[in-house]
Amino acid sequence: MTTNVLYMDLTYSITDIASQISQCTSCELHKTRTLTVPGHGDPKSKIMIIGEAPGRNEDQIGMPFIGKAGDILDILLESIDLDRTKIFITNMVKCRPPQNRDPYSTEITHCSGFLDHQIHVIDPLIIITLGRFSLNKFLPNTTIKNVRGTIHKWNQYTIFPIYHPAAALYNPKLLPKMKSDFEKISLLINNLERHNESTK
Ligand code: URA
Repeated sequence: MTTNVLYMDLTYSITDIASQISQCTSCELHKTRTLTVPGHGDPKSKIMIIGEAPGRNEDQIGMPFIGKAGDILDILLESIDLDRTKIFITNMVKCRPPQNRDPYSTEITHCSGFLDHQIHVIDPLIIITLGRFSLNKFLPNTTIKNVRGTIHKWNQYTIFPIYHPAAALYNPKLLPKMKSDFEKISLLINNLERHNESTK
């Protein structure tokens, strides 16, 4: 897909990109997927959340974060009065890796054109990365433990890395840390929106 001539075309909508994704056969994941999971939410949102890869439920329904990790994400969003209608959520790879294994770096590379195109079309004020795979796209050679809850820049975008919600399923002690990171996100969004308005 990364060789597609329409890559980065800003006249493309999120729906057009989803349609391209649905036809993608660039990597082996297309052979085992049920549905592609391009992303979901408001394409005009200023908040983009990037997870890792679809799991079993997501592969069946075609929507990101609808399993147990999604429940945790919803709780965290609710804690700062946000819900999915106000953000755009997607993943590093748009097809489920078999048995929910980690995505291979080749699969991430094949899918990165879609993600970059989505970022350009949405043009968010803030990108929240969930877990190490999306973190390493923007901040390679860092660890989630060291950078979670802190603000970074990638091109014109503000990047805010946090733990993957699935981590709280295995280690509930992380939940208070994740809640405090979401409080920071709420403040950050307010500041970025205020700054954005004042520079219009
Ligand atoms: N579901 C998703 O869509 N992405 C993840 O990273 C985990 C669960």
